[in-house]
Amino acid sequence: MSKFKYEKLFQFGKDNTKYIKLDSKPFKIKKIDDKEILVITKDVIENLTKEAFYNISHFLRPDHLNQISKIFKDKEASDNDKYVALTLLKNANVAAGGILPMCQDTGTAIVLGKKGSGIWTNFDDEEIISKGIWSSFKENNLRYSQLAPISMFEEVNTKTNLPAQIDIISTTGSEYNFLFVAKGGGSANKTFFYQATPSVIRTKGILKFLEPLIKNIGTAACPPYHLGIVIGGTSGEMNMKTLKLATCKYLDNIPKTGNSSGRAFRDVGMEKEILEMTKKYGIGAQFGGKYFCHDVRVIRLPRHGASLPISIGVSCGADRQLKAKITKKGIFIEKLEKNPSIYLPKIPIKELSSNSVKINLNQPMKKICKILSGLTIKTRVILSGTLIVARDMAHGKIKEKIDSNLKMPDYFKNHPIYYAGPAKTPKGHVTGSFGPTTAGRMDSYVDLFQKHGGSKIMLAKGNRSKQVTDSCKKYGGFYLGSIGGPGAELAQNNIKDVECIEYPELGMEAIWKIHVENFPAFIVIDDKGNDFFQSFGINN
Ligand code: SF4
Repeated sequence: MSKFKYEKLFQFGKDNTKYIKLDSKPFKIKKIDDKEILVITKDVIENLTKEAFYNISHFLRPDHLNQISKIFKDKEASDNDKYVALTLLKNANVAAGGILPMCQDTGTAIVLGKKGSGIWTNFDDEEIISKGIWSSFKENNLRYSQLAPISMFEEVNTKTNLPAQIDIISTTGSEYNFLFVAKGGGSANKTFFYQATPSVIRTKGILKFLEPLIKNIGTAACPPYHLGIVIGGTSGEMNMKTLKLATCKYLDNIPKTGNSSGRAFRDVGMEKEILEMTKKYGIGAQFGGKYFCHDVRVIRLPRHGASLPISIGVSCGADRQLKAKITKKGIFIEKLEKNPSIYLPKIPIKELSSNSVKINLNQPMKKICKILSGLTIKTRVILSGTLIVARDMAHGKIKEKIDSNLKMPDYFKNHPIYYAGPAKTPKGHVTGSFGPTTAGRMDSYVDLFQKHGGSKIMLAKGNRSKQVTDSCKKYGGFYLGSIGGPGAELAQNNIKDVECIEYPELGMEAIWKIHVENFPAFIVIDDKGNDFFQSFGINN
């Protein structure tokens, strides 16, 4: 009989994270059987959580910024790759001002805690972490995105951004370690799970299996991505939890080889192969090119002989996570970049904007459509004038009107429709962060709305289904892709006026009329049935 032998599944190497120390009073230390126990008070956990969510809403990791900046130096990067990269870096600079969060979707709050047996808290940790999240979202210009189900079909915004996803794991030692994550809806929606048959790895057909699945992530989660793939797992749930950690780079320092005890490891060879594969897709950083992904993490886990769980997910343009720890020496929080301007390229911005076509939106819809009809897909357009902002709930309300034989409002026919929902407006600002949301969620409305003369021009992020291409061909419509991710930059420099025109009770889901200046976008679907993304074989 084999002997009992225990090995940790995740064997972490040295933590190379750079931390900064937060101000705090020394902790009380109690002794139990000669063992020192660190006594942590409520305010320490609450303030740390509050600080963490403020930081990840405004600042990025230096490695992430460096990866964006490298796109400018790469001769193989497309002009559109560089244009998106520049926009994301400008956005990072606006967000680092600490007022406008980097993205209007400030995310679901996710916290992983690892609590050593030498840590004592005489309270419900989850409650106090929730309180820290609540105060961070209340006191900063962050958006409340959580909906509470009152019944199966009725939902209300909790107006606190709670509940959060909190997992606290008990461990040994005298440290309390944390990972704080703010996960946007668009990014979370690009998490996929498959129960593959074990033959996928036995025949080494794994890359063939993954190739179309990774491509189908599309661009709705604002690439370039940090792509995570987890292969194996003692259960489907464990596989998915590992995926979240992989996309956060939390597992970067686990071993790079497996062993007979079944430890988790990173397959760096496969990471390189998959990164190369994604470069060849041609999708690039949203509008054609090489930079679909910044990097890839592949984690291999042990599995039941009859199962092969596989998951795929991303960390998006708003790469928001941060590690923190409480030790005897104090409270430490991961050092994020407070001065992203050092990553801005030293090339004239004109060089990247020379191929753009300026379009005045304050003219009859027919005329705007005629101008767009004379351009080809992938053309960069710079928009100035009026847009109507409407997303999921507003579309539902307009459909209700049509279903009740009421007229579609004229504003839906006379102006392009921007799918978006703003974050809170900071004092003295015209708007809060206000980037595009995922267009695909509105696909089912397009044919009906265009039939009634509305939604002739749509503006949002990501790829769309064939029904939208078909409808645009039938009714002479267009879908323009806005760069996903730069909500702060758009709010600061491109959105000049915001007025709520219907359904104020829907909060950020209300219908708004906004005035934009020099708002960048790309023609993705035209009135002839062309779809920029279909040329890459993305299936919806
Ligand atoms: S960057 Fe894009 S995918 Fe990420 S949270 Fe913002 S809108 Fe969502």
